[in-house]
Parts: sequence; structure tokens; C-alpha cells
Amino acid sequence: MALHEKDKIMAKMDEDIYTSTDLRISAPKNKIPEKESRTEDVYSIIHDELMIDGNSRLNLATFCSTWLDEGIHKLMDECLDKNMIDKDEYPQTAAIEERCVHMMADLWNSPKSKNTIGCSTTGSSEAAMCGGLAMKWRWREKMKAAGKDTSKPNLVTGPVQVCWEKFARYFDVELRQIPMEHGRLLMNAEEVLKRCDENTIGVVPTLGVTFTCQYEDVKSINDALDELQKSTGLDIPIHVDGASGGFVAPFLHPDLVWDFRLPRVKSINASGHKFGLSPLGVGWVIWREKSDLPEGLVFNVNYLGGNMPTFALNFSRPGGQIIAQYYNFLRLGKEGYRRIQQACADHAKYIAGKIQKLKVFDIIYDGQGALPGACWTLKKDANVGFTLYDLSDRMRSRGWQIASYSMPENRQDMVVQRVLIRHGFSRDLADLLIADFERALEWFEKHPVNNSNSMEDAKVFNHN
Ligand SMILES: *Cc1c(COP(=O)(O)O)cnc(C)c1O
Repeated sequence: MALHEKDKIMAKMDEDIYTSTDLRISAPKNKIPEKESRTEDVYSIIHDELMIDGNSRLNLATFCSTWLDEGIHKLMDECLDKNMIDKDEYPQTAAIEERCVHMMADLWNSPKSKNTIGCSTTGSSEAAMCGGLAMKWRWREKMKAAGKDTSKPNLVTGPVQVCWEKFARYFDVELRQIPMEHGRLLMNAEEVLKRCDENTIGVVPTLGVTFTCQYEDVKSINDALDELQKSTGLDIPIHVDGASGGFVAPFLHPDLVWDFRLPRVKSINASGHKFGLSPLGVGWVIWREKSDLPEGLVFNVNYLGGNMPTFALNFSRPGGQIIAQYYNFLRLGKEGYRRIQQACADHAKYIAGKIQKLKVFDIIYDGQGALPGACWTLKKDANVGFTLYDLSDRMRSRGWQIASYSMPENRQDMVVQRVLIRHGFSRDLADLLIADFERALEWFEKHPVNNSNSMEDAKVFNHN
């Protein structure tokens, strides 16, 4: 460096981030810039832009983890560079994934939890594809063996999360979704039986329906399918979508029989990143027994010189989320999970009670008996100057993100509001939330909204 340029270069290095050239022009949005920029400058630009996203902890619309302890932050950082698919290169990550599979198989009462098979996925959506494909393959093998037509598979569900609609469309399966009706927001045995025939690859009850947080009654569906088999010979398996409930029911509702205790339940999916308390990016699907996953779907990969069976739609994926799942299992144990889910359920019940006292809402789900959350609708005769969409919007001005949406078929007439209470929530936050609801109602009394269609767009809501 020429000595006379020293001052110029020093000045550039000492420059305040916000007076640097990069922060005094608009950030590139459509073309990759030609030149490099300073790390700190670019970090600040992006960090600051993300402030607009809001605070995920105040997002009561999501089911996913928004609070993670120090141990998880550290392990995630340490695993940032590890690809979970490279079983041979990262054998301990692979071994830990296996341990998680067996721990969950045991949690869900698989008869041979140490030997059964399962895998991690990016979330319940990929897990649902895997579970659905296994059902389709098993059904096809059975039909072929009987010399029957295999061109018209169908799947029977209640009001499901969109991943099952995707499964049906992507993999050419007719979705026989039981619509909601007045007085019935879940599937029931009678409606299931009406839709089952020899082309039914399986029935999918949901443990923790996204629209209401409630559990569908797996046991009664199971019993009805047992009866169906007795009278017709049709043997239809159950896959339980336990995206949220898979990590809630075993701790809060241990007597509820919904899992592999029922022999007809052949597979279960759950989201590690929801009530599994792991960071975003991990789901699980577990089969009751090894033989329940058709061999044709399994690929064998090299693993410590041997073979390891794998089944997934994805290839490269980070290993940290899987490691964090194992960390949670060891760190919390069953007792820790129970305490956390119970605390959340207690807060949800408290919030539902307070919402009821506001007099203008009908509680649909009060946080008890299923997921830690609550859900309500406006009373028919409430006669208030706002819609639930307006109320969500008003709450957003205080940072809260609260889902309002219309129900699916055939209850599109019904608009509901829902909060999910997750690890990282406290009674104090619940009190602040209620105070903000009260403040919002007072505000609407003074400023009623005339155009109740102003929030039409909010009806497009993603049930994640
Ligand atoms: C969230 C959810 C899914 C999708 O799970 P992801 O982990 O977000 O992929 C599927 N089914 C139900 C019932 C859910 O709640």
C-alpha cells in the first residue's frame, strides 16, 4: 500500500456502517451486484429489513417452535456444515437419527420399537407424502395379488391440512375428504364408513386438526374399521396425522388410545418443529413394524461399510434439527415435555376463559383435551362494529399475529380466530394479550368498521 493512501483506506475501514456507500443506496433486488461489499454492511441491511417480519414470539398463528434454548442454538451452529444424508461421512448424526426414530416408536407404543423403521423429514408434509406412498404401495400389492384393478386408489380423511391434498394430487389418489357440517367439525366413524371401499388405501384421522386444535377420535374410527373388516373382509389401514398431537397426547393425555396400541394404526407422522420443540426443518414418520413399509420404497445407502435403509423424498438437508430433537429428548425427558405442554395448555385455558368473559365470542375449543391453543368465533348476535379479520389487524398493531380464517367445506360461513400457545409463552404474556384484546374492543366501539370486506385478502390463510 502506498503510504499516501493509508489515510484513505483507514477512513474507509473506520467508516460508520450507516454512512457507508452500501447503506446510502437501495439494496440490489433483481440482479446480483458486480462487486463485493463489507460483511457488516450487508449484514445490517438484511438484519434491518427482517425487522418488518415482526416478532415470531408474538406470532400465535403458527404451530412451530419460536423459542429455543442455548444448547439448541449452539448445536445448530455446530451442525451447520453437516449434511444428514451423508450417513457414511457423518455416522453419528445417522446414529442419532436412528435413536430418535426408536424413541418415538416407543413413545407411540410400537410393539417392537427397537426394530421398527422410520425416518426424519423436512416436516410433516414430507412425512405425509412418505406415509401416503407406503399406504398406496401396500394397497397396490394387495390388489395386484388379487388380480384386481389398481387404477383408482382413494384416501379417506376429515378436514385435513393442505399436505394431504398435495399428496392426493401429486400421487394420483382420489381424496375423499369428509366435509364439516353444522354440529360436526371433525370426521366420525359413520362418515368414514360411507366413503370406504376396496380402493381405499387408508384412513387418515388428525390428532390436532389445524382449524380447531381438536383431536379426531382415532379409536372409534379404528373400531368401525374392525367391524367393516368383519362384515366385508376389507382391511383398511390407518395413518395418524399427529403433526402436533403426536408430541402432546403422550404427555397430556396418556390414556387416550390413538397410536400403535391400535394394531390398525400402521404409521404416524409428527412435526419435530412443532410441539416436538425442535427448530424449523424436521418432521418424522414412523411405521408400526418394519413390515409395514413396503420394501420397494426403501433405498439402501452406504453406512460404515454396511447398508442403511432410507426412505425420503429429499436428499441433502441439514443435520442440526435432528440433533436438536435428540437433545430435547435427553434434556427434557418425558417429565420435561409434560411440564412444558401442561404449562402451555394451562395458559391456553386461561386465555379461553378470559376471551369468553369479553361476552362477544363463542368458544369453540378451550385449550383442554387436545392441543395447547384456543379457538373462538363471533357470537351470531354480537352486533359489533368489526369482523374477526379487523380484530386480527388491530391486534397486529401491537405486534400480535393472530389467525382469522373461514372454515373449509361445508362451513365456509363460519369465521374463527385461533391462538396456539407454545414453549416460550408465559402467564404475563397471556395477560398482556388479553389487555390488548380489551383495548381493541374498546377501540372498535368508538371506531366501528363500516366496510367489513376490507380484510377479504386475509381469508387466504396458510395452516402451517
Ligand atoms: C402443520 C401440519 C402439517 C404440515 O406439517 P409441516 O411440519 O408444516 O410440514 C400437516 N398436518 C397437520 C395436522 C399439521 O398441523
